[in-house]
Amino acid sequence: MANRIKNWITKISSFRNSPRNHAVDTITIHCVVGQMGVESLCSHFQVANCSCNWAIGFDGRVAEIVPEGDRSWCSSSPANDHRAVTIECASDAFYPYAINANVWNTLIGLCADICQRHNIKELKWMGDKGLIGQVGLQNMTAHRWFANKSCPGDYIYNRLGQIAKEVNQKLGGAPAVPFKAYQGQVNATDGLNCRTSPANGTVLKAYPDGTVLTITQENGGWGYTGEGWVCLDYINKIASAKDPAEKEESIMEGKQFKKLFDEMRQQWHDNDASKYSKEARQWAVDSGLVVGGSAEEFNGMWEDLMTREQLVTVLYRFAKMMGAVPTSDSSK
Ligand SMILES: [Zn+2]
Repeated sequence: MANRIKNWITKISSFRNSPRNHAVDTITIHCVVGQMGVESLCSHFQVANCSCNWAIGFDGRVAEIVPEGDRSWCSSSPANDHRAVTIECASDAFYPYAINANVWNTLIGLCADICQRHNIKELKWMGDKGLIGQVGLQNMTAHRWFANKSCPGDYIYNRLGQIAKEVNQKLGGAPAVPFKAYQGQVNATDGLNCRTSPANGTVLKAYPDGTVLTITQENGGWGYTGEGWVCLDYINKIASAKDPAEKEESIMEGKQFKKLFDEMRQQWHDNDASKYSKEARQWAVDSGLVVGGSAEEFNGMWEDLMTREQLVTVLYRFAKMMGAVPTSDSSK
């Protein structure tokens, strides 16, 4: 019984094999290419010579088309459909075949429900057709892998990882995989306390603003740094740092850039031809940005290169890219 799904209707299709010959260990999500309601979906699968275990209408309501104990005719692969619960989702009839928020929310709940009832600890998506059947590594599949079709459409296909993530959050508890250490940067002007234990532990030290830390454990919004615990509210996670050293450098540059930019803006504002400005001019000459001439001649030359307005535009874009322009979004 689908315990997260309320008010689902049942209209069993004859296009099925009873019972399925393999335990459920996979989920396959499809798009129906049309913003259909559940009643239309039920009628469709009575005559279409195909079926699915579940269908989700545009309003988020659910229809049971083939009982989960049976194999649906859905993914152009008997082997897949014998082990997968298949779900058809009402979608746009045009590229990228988007599903609306009602369907999305129901889909997440339904997938979590399926996982719980079939003892699937976690949904795993790698986007790798080569992993079909290796459910320990990937337990979601796509119709396009089995037939020359675009199903489930790029909207869903490109979000299968996000769907897995949201389902896994609903499943709650510790993920089946061990915790993956990650890097994060301290974002606290006055520094960040490192404590012997989360929340109330004794303060061991304070990490300066901008310090890059490796978090090796998490516990209730606190992260372990190898030395002690820090509040993760003040850690900016560095996403998918493939080369930690390189990533560390680039993010430090970002933080440093903001400080330099603030200084430079002040100097420009004060119209102060300081050593810093001289260095910048020399750099422009040395790096070939200005051909020939010396740093001293730069002042006369640079106006030929671009107007001050253009320069401001370039700097503004760069500053924005580096995170040195405060966002107007007050919620951040
Ligand atoms: Zn399909």
